Amino acid sequence: MKITVIGTGYVGLVTGTCFSEMGNKVICVDADAQKIENLNNGIIPIYEPGLNEIISQNAQKTLFFTKDIQKAIKESELIFIAVGTPMSANGSADLSAVYAVAKEIGKNISSHKIVVSKSTVPVGTCNQIKKNIQSEIELRKEKITFDIVSNPEFLKEGAAISDFMKPDRVVIGAENEATFSKMKELYSPFFRTRDRFITMDIRSAEMTKYAANALLATKISFINEIANICEKVGADVNNVRVGIGSDKRIGYDFIYPGIGYGGTCFPKDIAALINLGKENGYTPKIISAVDNVNQEQKKFFLERILKRFDNDVSNKILAIWGLSFKPETDDMREAPSLYIIKELIRRGAKIQAFDPIAISEAKNSYFKGLEIFYGNDKYQVLENADALVLLTEWKEFRSPDFDHIQQQLNFPLIFDGRNQYSKFKLEDQGFEYYQIGKH
Ligand code: NAD
Repeated sequence: MKITVIGTGYVGLVTGTCFSEMGNKVICVDADAQKIENLNNGIIPIYEPGLNEIISQNAQKTLFFTKDIQKAIKESELIFIAVGTPMSANGSADLSAVYAVAKEIGKNISSHKIVVSKSTVPVGTCNQIKKNIQSEIELRKEKITFDIVSNPEFLKEGAAISDFMKPDRVVIGAENEATFSKMKELYSPFFRTRDRFITMDIRSAEMTKYAANALLATKISFINEIANICEKVGADVNNVRVGIGSDKRIGYDFIYPGIGYGGTCFPKDIAALINLGKENGYTPKIISAVDNVNQEQKKFFLERILKRFDNDVSNKILAIWGLSFKPETDDMREAPSLYIIKELIRRGAKIQAFDPIAISEAKNSYFKGLEIFYGNDKYQVLENADALVLLTEWKEFRSPDFDHIQQQLNFPLIFDGRNQYSKFKLEDQGFEYYQIGKH
């Protein structure tokens, strides 16, 4: 099939790359000329395991990068919209990029197309995309038909390629059988063993994405709230987690206590869902609480650090392990590290940070202008530090050399925001060790 993917970020680039891997001819478009130039020179803008390899195998064969949106629209039968839908000031999803693309499609289609929204968009957006395309066609006094699809994406950053290649399900919201059938044909190569299509109306497909993210975020905030109560009453959330996860109805996934969720999806999708409810006369209660607990969680962790230093971290040197919002990605959008590190610096602390992948993202963008020492490895940042603070649970932090840590630090003190270590063992070894949900 001939496919155009508009928006070459985490979702668009992975989507385009994986479709091209299956033999489709894919044109990836982006408004960011530098990004396109880099991609054409083999420079991949994001870190995602396996992505580099598949791009280099397919580039200039079945996978092409361009900023020429007009040509890309004309040349393909399927057009995916995968631009960002960031949070706007009032919490709603900013749909300006989506609608700008819809307009371009309306201006440039010259034959029947299927227009697919991969971006996460509030219920009713596909309908508006349809209207925007239609009105541009009418302005040209043309009679060109097109179909609209909502095909929300469920990939996880850090495992995006494997999630896309072996999806749990593909949700397709469409309006007629021919479109369902075309979408199934496109995705069939991704299901070798059994059909995993879930077909529905467009509005339900749009809502499915928000409902899925809201439920996952709810599990995280729920366990964090339980962790906070555990601390107060002398229970150990690590035991409680295992105790409840063993119930099949609950399961072990997404019940790890920590310093809260971040990233591009959960915070903005939760805010957009709250906003969608309110705009339609319903104030969400559970989902609003999920957001509140999440905002508080990183503050609790910061307060714990501050309290340990009698609320004075000025000139304390803190070694930070992990900057990205989760392991296996360089994405720092809404990462808890942003709040925690900025607050520590504001209070006079000196930061020595290490992350296996996200350092250049931190240096050039999120912490630009801030005085932070970035280490070449996880042990270098411990030198002369007054404590180690673990913020992202990268694999390489799971079993570090604690003797070495003890030697490097000024004082054997660890704040673990991701419950990676055994309190019993570390205290036995002489560490002062704090984790989430255990006194
Ligand atoms: P992103 O910010 O990484 O990428 C968006 C890209 O779109 C950027 O490269 C930007 O330059 C480009 N763009 C913006 N306006 C454009 C325009 N008018 N024309 C062409 N290109 C334009 O975003 P992302 O993380 O890939 O997310 C895209 C959508 O997918 C969002 O709605 C998001 O909620 C959803 N989503 C993201 C994830 C994830 O894990 N990142 C997972 C599932 C769904």
